[in-house]
Amino acid sequence: MKLFMPTKVYSEEGCVRKHAKEIAAYGKKAMIITGKHSAKVTGAYDDVVSALQQEAVSYIVFDEVEENPSVETVMKARKIGLDNNVDFVIGIGGGSPLDASKAIALMMTNPDKTEDVLYKNEVLPCMPIVCVPTTCGTGSEATQYSILTLHDQRTKRSISHTLFPELSLLDSRYLRTMSRECLVNTCVDALAHLVESYFNTNASELSRIYSREGLRIWSKFKDSLKNGNVSAEDYEDMIHASMIAGIAIAHTGTSVPHGMSYSITYERKIPHGKAVGMFLGGYVDFYKEKKDVKVVLDILGFDTASDLRQYIRGLLGVVEIEDELLVADAKGLLENPAKLKNYPYEISEQDLIEMAN
Ligand code: NAP
Ligand code: FE
Repeated sequence: MKLFMPTKVYSEEGCVRKHAKEIAAYGKKAMIITGKHSAKVTGAYDDVVSALQQEAVSYIVFDEVEENPSVETVMKARKIGLDNNVDFVIGIGGGSPLDASKAIALMMTNPDKTEDVLYKNEVLPCMPIVCVPTTCGTGSEATQYSILTLHDQRTKRSISHTLFPELSLLDSRYLRTMSRECLVNTCVDALAHLVESYFNTNASELSRIYSREGLRIWSKFKDSLKNGNVSAEDYEDMIHASMIAGIAIAHTGTSVPHGMSYSITYERKIPHGKAVGMFLGGYVDFYKEKKDVKVVLDILGFDTASDLRQYIRGLLGVVEIEDELLVADAKGLLENPAKLKNYPYEISEQDLIEMAN
């Protein structure tokens, strides 16, 4: 067994300003990396800027990260960062800006490399990465992964490098501005991470401790997520479940629902959590090791896998995907053994298709 999660995580109200000195220890000039609006709307951007100003750290801002960030965006940001001699990056937002900030940091630290290096197994240095999440799904603040869109391949793929943030600052107040849809999608992503990590070839007793604890926390807000009455305590639980789920997948990787989701997101612009969630209930239903299924269902408080499937359907609605795309998606997954290596059993094209919704 191996346990490795080198990111220092603080979770408390006001933690960005409280830990200004620790942020400032990473250098004299920061590059703040965000999407279009959410960093500012949540107040996270103001907190980061005021922490930097307090410590006399200068900064530049790159606010062009799109949902499901592309290699092109990473390369554009790298040029701006290199022109400005930044020492470290601060990603603020959902998984998209956080993942982008990891890849941007890597490419800035290695200015002589071309974008091909993102998908090469080459050990490279990387400048410090600070993450401030504003969604509660990806766990990117506690993982080594950065998933980028490859337009030439019409899909998304995790880059080949291990890029844990140095520091992640979790303030659950930033979650409060999320739309119901975004909240539901990202909570379902975290749930998928917990389950896919538990049902995983790489799972160990240590990784499963994180999965079980994340599921226990997730079960606490299961009803409020459904009825929309989300309290401050629920938001706190959501950000913790998501971060803990990140630690779980950092050790195991994800599995079939994530593998099936990427081309659905690319081809139909379905948000990440929703695309993953449309396979999650069916994946639990199909999973052969019923002892493991029972552990997950018991912690979450569902009697049967179909109850869980029904619950997820109720949250996300049925995602209509035409058969041709589902078949192509399933074939793509089955033709790529690397993508299925985390799934411990044989699986057929028909099984994969029937997992949908
Ligand atoms: P996202 O793509 O980062 O953000 C989705 C939308 O929500 C954006 O429009 C964003 O606005 C908005 N938003 C974010 N926080 C908000 C807030 N607090 N209030 C209001 N609006 C807010 O969504 P995500 O689901 O968190 O991230 C998905 C990405 O993470 C995918 O690329 C996925 O592949 C990746 N991912 C990574 C890992 C990992 O381990 N690294 C794991 C799973 C998924 P702005 O555009 O204005 O910011
Ligand atoms: Fe995910």
